[in-house]
Amino acid sequence: MSVHSNLRHFHNLLTPQSLANDLPASRRENRTRLFTGPFFQEFWLLKFQQTLAAAISFSGVGLHTGTSVDLKVVPAPPNTGLVFERVDLDNFRIEANIKNVARVAYATTLMKRGVLLSTVEHLLSSLYILGVDNAIIEINNLEVPILDGSALEFITKIQQVGLKAQPAKRKYLVIQKRLYLKDHDKTISILPAESFQISYSIDFKHPLIGKQSFDFEASPETFAKEIAPARTFGFFHEVEVLRKNGLVRGGSLQNAIVLTEDGILNDILRFKDEFVRHKILDSIGDFSLIGRPLIGRIIAHKAGHAMHTHLVSKILSDRSLWRLESDLGSKRSKAGNNYSYRLPRTVNSSRPV
Ligand SMILES: [Zn+2]
Repeated sequence: MSVHSNLRHFHNLLTPQSLANDLPASRRENRTRLFTGPFFQEFWLLKFQQTLAAAISFSGVGLHTGTSVDLKVVPAPPNTGLVFERVDLDNFRIEANIKNVARVAYATTLMKRGVLLSTVEHLLSSLYILGVDNAIIEINNLEVPILDGSALEFITKIQQVGLKAQPAKRKYLVIQKRLYLKDHDKTISILPAESFQISYSIDFKHPLIGKQSFDFEASPETFAKEIAPARTFGFFHEVEVLRKNGLVRGGSLQNAIVLTEDGILNDILRFKDEFVRHKILDSIGDFSLIGRPLIGRIIAHKAGHAMHTHLVSKILSDRSLWRLESDLGSKRSKAGNNYSYRLPRTVNSSRPV
C-alpha cells in the first residue's frame, strides 16, 4: 500500500494521540528493560581498532525510495573505516566520509561518481557509538532499510555477534579549539571536552514537541537505552509534497512517528522527548563522517543534517581546531579493549508501534 493511502487509512481509524506521558503505564513501552548491564567498552577508552566478530544482515524497505533492500555488514581489516559496497553495481565502493556527502535534505545521502547511497545516518550512528571502526556494508540498492525508524535492530545485531580488537591503534580526533556556526535561528558549536558529548535542543510549534533538549555522553549503553529506540518523525501535512519529490515513499506508521496538527497517528511514543533523542541519533550518524572517533562537546540548537555535515567539513578543513591522539583510554584508565563483558538480553525490535 502506498504511504499516502496507508496514512489516510490510519488517519480515519485513529484519533490523534494526546501526550504520551498521559498514557496509562501499560500502554507505554518499557524501555528500562532494554540493555541492562555493561556490554561494550566506553567509546573513548578503546586502545585498538575494532571490527565485527561476524557478519550481520538486515532486510527491509528504504524510507524514501520505498524499494526493498538487503544489507550485510561484514568485518574488514584495520584502517578500512566504514565503507559501503553496492553489490548491485559491481561492488562499487562509497566510503562513509564527508567528501562523499551529496544531499542532506530529510536524510543524509552519499554519492561518489554519480552512485548514490541514501539514509545512511541510523546505521552509521550505531556502528560509530558501539565502536565499530572497520566494516564493509554490502548493499543491493541505493537506500539503507529504515526498519522500525530507529536504530534498535542495528544495535541488537551488533551486540549479538560482538566485536573483535584489531592490531592497529585507534586514533581519536580531539577538539582543541571552539568552533561556532549559525544560520538564522539554527546554531551548532563544538568545543574541547573529555569525551564525546552532544547537547541538542529543538523547538517545534507542536503540542507534543515544543521545546525539548537532551544531553548525551557517548557510551554504548546510554546510546542503546536512551537514543537508539527513538524513531524518525515527520508531519502528516508534508507527506504529499514529500512524495511528489520522491521522498517518504516507504514511510508508514511502522517506521515513523507521523505528526498531525495536534497529535500523532501512531499509538504511542517511546519517550516523551523521542523527537530530540532522534535528532541526536541522526546527528551522530552525520558526525561519524569525520572518519574517526571524536572527542569534543557539540551543542546544537534546531540544527539538522545540513548543519551537522557543515560542522564536520569546517572541522576537517581547519587543522588548528584538532589533534590526533592514540592511547586516550590508557591515559584515563588502565583498561585496554576489555572483552570480558556479558552480552545483554536481545531486544525484540519488531514490536508494532
Ligand atoms: Zn533519522
